[in-house]
Amino acid sequence: MAILNQLTSQEAIDLENKYGAHNYHPLPVVLSKGEGVFVWDVEGKKYYDFLSAYSAVNQGHCHPKIVNAMTEQAKTLSLTSRAFYNDILGKYEKYASEYFNFDKLLPMNTGAEAVETALKICRKWAYEVKGIDENDAEIIVCENNFHGRTTTIISFSNDPIARKNFGPYTEGFIKIEYDNLQALNDALESNKNVAGFLVEPIQGEAGVYVPSENYLREAKALCEKHNVLFIADEVQTGIARTGRLLATCGNCSCADKNCSGTPDVKPDILILGKALSGGAYPVSAVLANDPIMNVIRPGNHGSTFGGNPIAAAVAMAALEVVRDEDLANKADELGELFRTEMNKYIKTSSIVNLVRGRGLLNAIVINDDEDSDTAWNICLKLRDNGLLAKPTHGNIIRFAPPLVMTEDQLLDCVSIITKTLKEFED
Ligand SMILES: *Cc1c(COP(=O)(O)O)cnc(C)c1O
Repeated sequence: MAILNQLTSQEAIDLENKYGAHNYHPLPVVLSKGEGVFVWDVEGKKYYDFLSAYSAVNQGHCHPKIVNAMTEQAKTLSLTSRAFYNDILGKYEKYASEYFNFDKLLPMNTGAEAVETALKICRKWAYEVKGIDENDAEIIVCENNFHGRTTTIISFSNDPIARKNFGPYTEGFIKIEYDNLQALNDALESNKNVAGFLVEPIQGEAGVYVPSENYLREAKALCEKHNVLFIADEVQTGIARTGRLLATCGNCSCADKNCSGTPDVKPDILILGKALSGGAYPVSAVLANDPIMNVIRPGNHGSTFGGNPIAAAVAMAALEVVRDEDLANKADELGELFRTEMNKYIKTSSIVNLVRGRGLLNAIVINDDEDSDTAWNICLKLRDNGLLAKPTHGNIIRFAPPLVMTEDQLLDCVSIITKTLKEFED
């Protein structure tokens, strides 16, 4: 690794460009170290991380408790495959199932795999429990969704860049407008073969769209009425990011922000990823109660690495950190502060139209076209000023720092952001 350590930023970028597939368009900054809310580039410049690897690093970079759990387990036993039992998977499954208040967990690695898993469980449930005729099941999804990159998932995306020339597409999905209960009701009423409704509690990639206050609760009630599974993709919103343990607790009147949801918004199938490992390792999971999860039998589904001992140890540590450090409450309070401060700025701003979000999942909308490069240019300036964020669209910038931030740090970040935005005011 000695050679790698000597690379300049430009050399590292050139290597990726020459030898790596061009499937991303990264902000030009080359990172070599992370700790808590900070990352450092190869030249030693320090930045606040305001993306957190798309909310995977909620617990902060290289959290010592998570790193320790990972290295200890790596030295002991890393992979058995599911051909044999191991002595930590069951402990993790019990811990996480109780943590989120479900009967069972199915372990996978990436978010997209967990979404695929949920879709498979939902379809099998439709045929074996609900009684839909084989191959007739439909799953309702929302416009502008982001659920990952596999062939089936992009089949129901409406992002042309994610979809074009990757067909033929997987059938069996009905797309409706997000945050539109009438559209959901119509789709349920007009189709007797609906098996599930897959939804992001807040649409992250779409630009942090927070639905109306009653949307999730009413959507769940409609699903119940039609015996349709409510499938919550909390890969990005889950695990304290939005100021609750889960964003589906968002409408919950329960005072405990660490609770995993009152029955009225409790999903039938919960999909987790990203922060389930605190960013240390790819860990994802699908949770459901027995009447649903038990449709899966040996040979129906699996993954060589899913539920491996390192993943199990890492995920338990990552979830412990969320509780021990009260990250849901922290995200809630810091998020309020962030939006309050940003709103003060927006009052006098001609470049920023609004700030929206829940907890520490927020976005600002720039007063420019969707396909402008203003948001990108602002992110370049933010980088120069010591803060890393990424546009989700030409005119939307997401702000999602690690949840372990202090109030002073957050205020420091607000001043970096507002100072930078001022450079763009005309
Ligand atoms: C990131 C994300 C996924 C996909 O996760 P990967 O680990 O990148 O496959 C799925 N759903 C949502 C809501 C996400 O934010």
